Amino acid sequence: MIYLVEDEDNIRELLVYTLQNSGFDAAGFSCGADFWREMANRAPHLVLLDIMLPGEDGLAILKKLRGNPATARLPVMMLTAKGAEYDRVLGLDMGADDYMPKPFGMMELVARVKSLLRRAETGAMPDEYRIGELFVSVPRHTVSACGVEARLTLKEFELLVFLMRNAGIVLTRDRILTAIWGYDFDGETRTVDVHIRTLRSKLGACGDMILTVRGVGYKIGGEA
Ligand code: CA
Repeated sequence: MIYLVEDEDNIRELLVYTLQNSGFDAAGFSCGADFWREMANRAPHLVLLDIMLPGEDGLAILKKLRGNPATARLPVMMLTAKGAEYDRVLGLDMGADDYMPKPFGMMELVARVKSLLRRAETGAMPDEYRIGELFVSVPRHTVSACGVEARLTLKEFELLVFLMRNAGIVLTRDRILTAIWGYDFDGETRTVDVHIRTLRSKLGACGDMILTVRGVGYKIGGEA
């Protein structure tokens, strides 16, 4: 998931569209307030930040991200106007991972996003979960289930990670739907059931570790 904060509607929409077309989940926000609201709900893998924004500007957002241990190492790319602003921002060295001077080509942006994500993967971000014979590495995007590598779609992967992060806790369908598909997703909780079913089958013998709690939802690990 990639978050983009950009107040110019046409640039934001084009960027989100381009990223989605390149196979990424992407969400755009026109101001810091909207961005932080979604950050509280779900953290992305990468953030693209415009600098000049109404209200809190991109540099203030970056500073906050870097100041919080949970997001201190989150890859951030600043989108800056060419010229004086670009020079000033580079000079400040606020700790962004990359800077992209506007105007830029979409393919160049996608290439840089991919390279940043790769770089983030090879850094030692301890975001791995193990329950019995089920092992998930978020940075490597791999799942080993009872000795077999499971090939999951992005949504199935996010669903599994969400369950594992909350191991032993019963998660309602609504909570799962909100966490994985977002508030504005207009599907139904049945979507969760369908994904749980395919996830279980892809996990093979480890699929039984995802427990159905009748009338409530699902959980992984802990007592049945
Ligand atoms: Ca702007």
